[in-house]
Amino acid sequence: MVEFLKRGRSAELRAEDQAKVRATVETILADIEKRGDEAVRELSVRFDNWDRKDFRLTDAEIRACMSELSARDIEDIKFAQAQVRNFAEKQRASMVDIEVETLPGVVLGHRNIPVNSVGCYVPGGKYPLLASAHMSVLTAKVAGVQRVATCAPPYQGKPAPAIVAAQHLAGADEIYCLGGVQAIGAMALGTQSIAPVNMLVGPGNAFVAEAKRQLYGRVGIDLFAGPTETLVIADESVDGELCATDLLGQAEHGPNSPAILLTNSRKLAEETMSEVYRLLSILPTASVAAKAWEDYGEVIICDSYEEMVREADRVASEHVQVMTRDPDYFLQNMTNYGALFLGSRTNVAYGDKVIGTNHTLPTLGAARYTGGLWVGKFLKTCTFQRVTTDQASAMIGEYCSRLCMLEGFAGHAEQANIRVRRYGGRNIPY
Ligand code: NAD
Repeated sequence: MVEFLKRGRSAELRAEDQAKVRATVETILADIEKRGDEAVRELSVRFDNWDRKDFRLTDAEIRACMSELSARDIEDIKFAQAQVRNFAEKQRASMVDIEVETLPGVVLGHRNIPVNSVGCYVPGGKYPLLASAHMSVLTAKVAGVQRVATCAPPYQGKPAPAIVAAQHLAGADEIYCLGGVQAIGAMALGTQSIAPVNMLVGPGNAFVAEAKRQLYGRVGIDLFAGPTETLVIADESVDGELCATDLLGQAEHGPNSPAILLTNSRKLAEETMSEVYRLLSILPTASVAAKAWEDYGEVIICDSYEEMVREADRVASEHVQVMTRDPDYFLQNMTNYGALFLGSRTNVAYGDKVIGTNHTLPTLGAARYTGGLWVGKFLKTCTFQRVTTDQASAMIGEYCSRLCMLEGFAGHAEQANIRVRRYGGRNIPY
């Protein structure tokens, strides 16, 4: 039986929050569409107290940002980017183009074609989230995207040097210091100074995620990647301190970041709750993490691994840290998650920052229908066909003609009939 030792904010309250965000974003996007750069500048001043004639950073500004970092910082960024690039290249190699003969004389195939231009959002409101630059800019480049524009908000009143360095080292073609909905809107809709892109990617807060959702259709998007969520699945093979550390490590993202413990041990559940409160008294980011834990934190007790899998699939969390005697049981049986972190030796921070898997992952239940950002999201799998013999054309044409007439499509049927006559030298006997 599933028991909640602690419950988070109700679905109604969450829906209310989302409705407010939806309305705000709608108004802002309409304004950007109508007034372009002028609206973007006003919004940037309103939300970020940041104004410039041109939001694109010059080469000199990029160099200045790079020089603010230590050699160690640059080395660390390069190490993380090497891991992300390496895994993305392996994934790219798995996306093969195919061309096969499915019937004698019938050749079908597909090519994986990179999207031509992409806008990568790098979040930076509360923390300068430089890792997001590796995750989107670099992955787009591995996929072969020609033009990668990237936006990040100002941090403490100026471009965040670490973000700019990561954007630059990842291979961005255009770097803008611009945040929130105004960045997303400008890249998708285009303005007098920013050429529109074909696709938007990258994580962000509730406003950024909602802006991407509303723009979907006019441009492509990677996925709904809003405020971070984490689910820790644990049994008594680990202790409460480890579970609490992993919960708060993600709750510190923002006050609306759910952190959930799912366990089959009441003892571990109680120990973790008291460890959360102990750690909150010493964590430097406790003010944010405590609010997230209070409003969205949950502790769920299940009877068995099977029940834990069902609950975990219901939650469909962005991150799932599995610390049980048999972590692979969850790998084999879970179906809804953004990314799995198997065993206590790894954790979400490794994935977020450096290990090489992508950290842009589905939130708000989107894990029910998509995985995270990866090189394949930047590729369009487009089919082609050819018929190499007259016999094959006439043979397929007969089937096609009859099937068209079943649907009442006389014009379609004639496309087939003419080929049966020309390449098969016969009329179709109905
Ligand atoms: P952000 O860059 O996403 O958002 C900052 C911008 O929000 C500002 O530039 C401002 O323009 C805009 N904004 C703030 N308040 C607003 C308001 N009231 N109305 C309209 N616009 C407003 O940075 P952040 O706020 O620090 O959020 C980063 C988010 O990214 C966190 O929620 C984090 O959990 C999430 N994240 C998600 C993933 C994922 O893969 N799902 C990965 C990393 C980070």
